[in-house]
Amino acid sequence: MANRKKNNLKVIPLGGLEEIGKNMTVFEYGDCIFAVDCGVAFPEDEMLGVDLVIPDVSYLEKNIEKVKGVVVTHGHEDHIGALPYILKKINVPVYGTELTLALLENKLIEHQMLNDIELKVVKAGETIKLGVFKVELIHSTHSIADSAALAIFTPVCVV
Ligand SMILES: [Zn+2]
Repeated sequence: MANRKKNNLKVIPLGGLEEIGKNMTVFEYGDCIFAVDCGVAFPEDEMLGVDLVIPDVSYLEKNIEKVKGVVVTHGHEDHIGALPYILKKINVPVYGTELTLALLENKLIEHQMLNDIELKVVKAGETIKLGVFKVELIHSTHSIADSAALAIFTPVCVV
């Protein structure tokens, strides 16, 4: 009998739980990793001299060869704001709807890194493949246009 290593789905929040902003969640299965969103948080009163708070992506840096990309759900700062900083550490493709990526594009221009980053426009209703994961973008209503909810098809379940 083949001795197959059993994989588990890991869901790792790098930010955005029990706090406002800094949304970023990592999905990992076997040797595939991708992240959902990459936002900033704004500093608390006691964080003197701090302009922006960004997620700690050292886990992704350590596992960079497994990282297939980042999927962004919508264009608010707390979901895309940290991308220019994070993409300097991990250069991976970014997937999102047209308006969301257009907003990101402006940020990348500001950081003079637009030509270095691969942006992939996905229409709501489309499904993308990221290694073993399939991610469907679903139109959703939010206070910014072109927002998407995600259905994440993993080898063990749908998230
Ligand atoms: Zn929002």
